[in-house]
Amino acid sequence: MCKYDFILKNGFVVDYKNAFAKYSDIAIKDGKIAEIALEISSQTAHDVLDLEGQLVVPGSVDPHVHLSTWLGGRTGHRMLARAGVTTALDMSGPGEGVMDIARDYGVGLNIATIEFVRPGYTVGSENPDAQELTQLIQKVLKHGSLGIKLLGGHYPLTPEATQLAIEIAAKEEAYVAFHAGTKATGSNLNGFLEAIELSKGNPLHLAHINAYLRGTVKPCLEEVNIAIQALKAHPNITSEAYLSPLNGTSALCEKGLPASMVTRRCLITGGYEATEAGMEKAILSGWAMVQMEKAGEMVLTFGEEGVKEWREKGDVGVSFVVNPAEPRYCLATAKDENNNFVVGSISTDGGGIPRNVIIPMGLNLVEMQALTIQEFVQKTSYNPARMLGLENKGVLETGYDADITVINRQLREAVLTMVQGKLSMYKGYICGSGTNIITTALGADYVRSKGLNPLIVNYTDTTVYKNAH
Ligand SMILES: [Zn+2]
Repeated sequence: MCKYDFILKNGFVVDYKNAFAKYSDIAIKDGKIAEIALEISSQTAHDVLDLEGQLVVPGSVDPHVHLSTWLGGRTGHRMLARAGVTTALDMSGPGEGVMDIARDYGVGLNIATIEFVRPGYTVGSENPDAQELTQLIQKVLKHGSLGIKLLGGHYPLTPEATQLAIEIAAKEEAYVAFHAGTKATGSNLNGFLEAIELSKGNPLHLAHINAYLRGTVKPCLEEVNIAIQALKAHPNITSEAYLSPLNGTSALCEKGLPASMVTRRCLITGGYEATEAGMEKAILSGWAMVQMEKAGEMVLTFGEEGVKEWREKGDVGVSFVVNPAEPRYCLATAKDENNNFVVGSISTDGGGIPRNVIIPMGLNLVEMQALTIQEFVQKTSYNPARMLGLENKGVLETGYDADITVINRQLREAVLTMVQGKLSMYKGYICGSGTNIITTALGADYVRSKGLNPLIVNYTDTTVYKNAH
């Protein structure tokens, strides 16, 4: 019997919690970190891998991805693993499809999901009442979701129903995330400020802050300053922002018009009509890039090929280059008077949408000294793990889960990911299978019935809850 299962030797180990950054060996036993030391004898483990000085960080946690049937789910698990991610929050469901895909196409990751609230799909109208919202939330918790996602910017509810949904989620101890926007506003600075107002101090994960600050209401840096002040003044809001210039929305058209309000806005921004005809012109020119599966991953395509994919599939994802640079960089680095980050985590809004760029773009900020390497770990692993109530992740220390990401610093590329001591990805090859579904005690049986492994968290351990109390 060997003392350890696995040793990762000679990595440059960086940990935020312990303010640690040293060449070290890490020994792993039964899915946990068993020892971190300058030198651990290779004789003590079944398996040893020499990392030759590569960067070793706690497994990357992405608090905003999409892994559903609609948004590239089948390919998303592989794309996340290749991007160095070990844990992620699916930000819209449908939960059942997310779990079926996670079972059949999983690569060994930890995945949480929250259920979308959309008129005509999960609620009857744009103005669901308290009873309907309560029933929906109770049902999704039993079905393994952590809570709900309000899709306001795309498919808005009334302000009243939005406020009610946030309030009821708090009462039912359900996680609630919100893409800002209601019938009264849109996915912009006004929608963002309205979202904070509608939260009424209740816990709220306000999604992708950068996406509301594209300079459509005021010059974008002015918008960023307003947003930063508003976030500082409202600690009940937990947030993330992403670094990619690309957004991701739906290209579906109904009765000659794009179904999503965000898509209409993007067409207008590019100088196109917000119609089906305008969409075709935008795809042909490359302003609209259609998400298409190629060799097991989603890629972006345009021109004739893009139009063909869109015409054949109808309900495809589409991306536009609509995120100006300054808001993304300001939000990634902004701190309050106590030296805490205003936006706690770096996300991608990726998964099945091809923009899983936490490592390349996050490390660019480190190269520019906009973040220290330990702050990079804080924003891409420690904080987002806590957002989801995963107290045993996001830290490299004896006794914590052996969720590890190894990065080639020169190429700014993940070379290995390990989840609870099991390899998920090595040098681009997928080694893992299945999925651990992050759920509450209420959803564990359902997750098991789906043939998946539940990883139980408490709502009150999430920073989304803690920040509001
Ligand atoms: Zn999203």
